[in-house]
Amino acid sequence: MTTNRPAVDRIGATAAAGPPVAWEEVPCPLCGLEAGAPILEAPDPIPPARAAMVFAVVRCGHCGLTYTNPRPNERTIARFYPADYRPHHHLGKPRPARNARPLWSRLFGRPCGERRGALPWPGPGRLLDFGCGAGRFLKTMADQGWQVTGLDSAASAVAHVRDQHGLPALVGSLPHAALAPGSFDVVTMWHSLEHVHRPLAILREAYRLLVPGGKLVVATPNIDSLPFRLFGRSWFGLDLPRHLTHFTPETLSAMIHAAGFRPEPVRLIRHSDWLRSSAKLAVRQGAGGVLARALRWKPVSKAAAWLCYVGGLSDCMMCVAERPV
Ligand SMILES: [Zn+2]
Repeated sequence: MTTNRPAVDRIGATAAAGPPVAWEEVPCPLCGLEAGAPILEAPDPIPPARAAMVFAVVRCGHCGLTYTNPRPNERTIARFYPADYRPHHHLGKPRPARNARPLWSRLFGRPCGERRGALPWPGPGRLLDFGCGAGRFLKTMADQGWQVTGLDSAASAVAHVRDQHGLPALVGSLPHAALAPGSFDVVTMWHSLEHVHRPLAILREAYRLLVPGGKLVVATPNIDSLPFRLFGRSWFGLDLPRHLTHFTPETLSAMIHAAGFRPEPVRLIRHSDWLRSSAKLAVRQGAGGVLARALRWKPVSKAAAWLCYVGGLSDCMMCVAERPV
């Protein structure tokens, strides 16, 4: 495969302290075959853009999974997470409870934030949030009576969860020595699975940590969406090189099934702010036409997000799956 391998020396000269970025080419994270064909190349969207760096996304010719390849290896990808990376610091307002959702939301589908307020479990249980960030979701669930544990690879985010919320959280990934098999009723992965180098292994470990009958909840961007077709390399959901796997409803469901779970049908989620972010990025990159310029406006992007949702082409999705009894 030919690709523009990123300029390692440039990163080494400009990024914060840490080891130089090391690159790896990998087989398909789902089927294990080396059948990836390039579908696009795009830069890192987080400013200051490392303009000389372009990352390749490939699609497996065997199973259809789309993934970033080559990619920074697990030891050095932290170089691409800026110190002010939003999910590690964003606190926001607590999530609305299920019965607080407005009527239109209940009728026409909910944004991702509202999805998180209600988990598929009969009453408060034991929850592991993989990729907990600054702990906004953990705090919401703890307030609802859940016994929560957070896990995140960013030490600063975990420190925030412990110090500001007083909630238990661990630094690292899965498997983790402090987590016992069968010790959780629900494991959530809100926009974290697309960030990990070994998504299938992470899902298998989540299976091990759940009780029989326990539930897994995974939300990721959906590359088989109208926003991706519209914006291509400017699509917000690509977020290269931090997003390593770019799921479709079919490949997300297939990977969850391959880990041993029984997945429910994938549900789409509206995200008008993602549409606005994609439109702004397209305009900034000089790729935005009339439509992109219009979609920067909130009323237009909200209407477009509804249309995507109704048409089954939203760019965010979630899957609930059960560990069989
Ligand atoms: Zn494959």
